[in-house]
Amino acid sequence: MIHLANNCGNCGSLQTNSTCGVHQVQVSQDLTCNQFNMRESLIPGMDCTSCGRKDDGSCPHPGKAAAGMRCHMWAPNAQA
Ligand code: SF4
Ligand code: SF4
Repeated sequence: MIHLANNCGNCGSLQTNSTCGVHQVQVSQDLTCNQFNMRESLIPGMDCTSCGRKDDGSCPHPGKAAAGMRCHMWAPNAQA
């Protein structure tokens, strides 16, 4: 399954000049950390209803998945 990378390039804390707003160091798309947070601009339309993990058994929260919700494991639907 293809999904968005949880790396600095998609992180909401990435600032201009490739600087991390959390760690105040230069970063690249090869890096990530435990403070990763997906950029809000990537999120519209990304909830459990559009998540490819919802029905393939790889959702880590099958009992909680619902419209309007999303977790960091969201992945595009392979059929999309
Ligand atoms: S180092 Fe962590 S917090 Fe900083 S931009 Fe990368 S993923 Fe985001
Ligand atoms: S809880 Fe996460 S992995 Fe499960 S369907 Fe929702 S976004 Fe996808």
